[in-house]
Amino acid sequence: MQIELRRKITEKTKAIMPVHLYGQMCDMRAIRKIADKHGLFVIEDAAHCIEGLRDSIAPGELSETACYSFYATKNLTCGEGGAITCNNDKLAETMKLLRCHGMNKTAQDRQVEGYQHWDMVVMGWKYNMDNIQAALLLPQFDRLDANWVKRRDLSLYYEKRLSKLPYISFPKERDHVKHSYHLLVIRIENGLRDHVINQLQARGINVMVNYRPVHLTNYFQTTFGYVENDFPLAERFGNEVVSLPFFPQMTFEQIDIVADTLAEIMQEVTASGKFLQEKTAGSKINV
Ligand SMILES: *Cc1c(COP(=O)(O)O)cnc(C)c1O
Repeated sequence: MQIELRRKITEKTKAIMPVHLYGQMCDMRAIRKIADKHGLFVIEDAAHCIEGLRDSIAPGELSETACYSFYATKNLTCGEGGAITCNNDKLAETMKLLRCHGMNKTAQDRQVEGYQHWDMVVMGWKYNMDNIQAALLLPQFDRLDANWVKRRDLSLYYEKRLSKLPYISFPKERDHVKHSYHLLVIRIENGLRDHVINQLQARGINVMVNYRPVHLTNYFQTTFGYVENDFPLAERFGNEVVSLPFFPQMTFEQIDIVADTLAEIMQEVTASGKFLQEKTAGSKINV
């Protein structure tokens, strides 16, 4: 990772944006070191990683900013919204201005402090979360740890139920990492992934793909000229991953249903011989 990251830095580079995918943190110490050497900002995408730690470091500790999402699919949610943490007062002030039109007083300030003339200091956006959303969000912080424990137990059970199935593997869990278990992602090898998705959905089990490689989407290809093989590992993952049903209220019985259905599908695949190829050697890729 570090060699590849260094290779991508040019004189135009301003920041490194690590994504703590699925809930396991990137190596922030290594990234900080590289960023310092090249005078770069570090902006963490911590949308999957509110609960995560690596080497006892949490998102936000070694970066300029860590960004969180409260979109509908996240561990904390108010439908839409997000938060940015930072430990630089000046940057925080700038972001507060930018999120609300570049105005230096909000309606609430004027309500609390009495009317004062306000100024528009910079050209900003309308990116603030509202109080109604915040009221939905705040009580969820109390349930964060309990929900994490539930997802961890469910994740372990999933792994126990699925690990022996052919062509299926789990992204490796790293040492010294507190995984936030945001998504339950498995890899399905041998080009079987889309077949398995179709079969699961035909049997009433909804799944997702997180994610197909972004550089091969139409926009990125036509705008930046990316082509296949530019990011081979992202492409490989994009062709192999499936996110299975996973939420803190899920029961072990529901996991049994998913696992039994997957076993049935894999059994049919193996019996049909249609997809029989050698299981790719050395295919464990560390996320
Ligand atoms: C959800 C998500 C985002 C985007 O969050 P928004 O609140 O929709 O802007 C960014 N990165 C990752 C990894 C996500 O899962």
